[in-house]
Amino acid sequence: MRRKENRGVQIKTPEQIAKMRAAGQVVARALDNVGAAVRPGVSTLELDAVAEKTIRDAGAVPSFKGYHGFTGSICASVNEEVVHGIPSAERVLAEGDIISIDCGAILDGWHGDSAITVAVGEGRSEDLRMMQTCEESMWRGIAELRPGRRLGDIGHAIDDHISRNGGYGNVREYGGHGIGTEMHMEPHVLNYGKPGKGMKLVEGMCLAIEPMTTMNDPDVRQLDDGWTVVTRDGGRAAHFEHTVAVTADGPIVLTARESDRAKIADMGFVQPTW
Ligand code: MG
Ligand code: MG
Repeated sequence: MRRKENRGVQIKTPEQIAKMRAAGQVVARALDNVGAAVRPGVSTLELDAVAEKTIRDAGAVPSFKGYHGFTGSICASVNEEVVHGIPSAERVLAEGDIISIDCGAILDGWHGDSAITVAVGEGRSEDLRMMQTCEESMWRGIAELRPGRRLGDIGHAIDDHISRNGGYGNVREYGGHGIGTEMHMEPHVLNYGKPGKGMKLVEGMCLAIEPMTTMNDPDVRQLDDGWTVVTRDGGRAAHFEHTVAVTADGPIVLTARESDRAKIADMGFVQPTW
């Protein structure tokens, strides 16, 4: 019987986790392909087409498209945009921009959700440092995804890493989430929290871990388009996300890309051979 404190959270069997991994790998390929297409002069709508083609070629469905009326297969958030940027032919990337690409896909009824932030061209060192802090905070959060740990442990690990790394902001209005047969499920996963507090994690939970880090102040607002979230102070922001399963053997990173492999080994996460 499911414990009371986990009521409402979808628990997956190992077979279902394997299906989520398949969906996650479609998202991973889409992000790889979009990342490779990022260059000065490309529009965010062109990047969206790359993602949609990758997802549909895999026999999957882009989960963002049509989600509450969203028009894209990716969220493309440039510079001071934090999340939920709408792909557009008018938004053309320039050398020195940074772009967060968030992507989701449904395969065989199961969802994957993942995001990366990349620099356009060389990238400015101050941006790369901020992006790296955001990504590392995600890995620290993922490391807490073990049976018996609590949601507060995840949030604390993320917030602690960001706050230790020199003046960056940790966006509080948005966070991670449970994921499975829907993209957004219980529980909401805050990117801050108290160790040992909150819902206890159990084997079979799947969570999307997604910190958002700003150069300075973490306050955000939504633009009149009803989607795009930007920093109030105009500072740049980064966003990284992985879909991860909680198992007795540790976290399984379902949306892992080839380029994550070394980091996953470094973190000591043992991944099954699928
Ligand atoms: Mg996402
Ligand atoms: Mg998400």
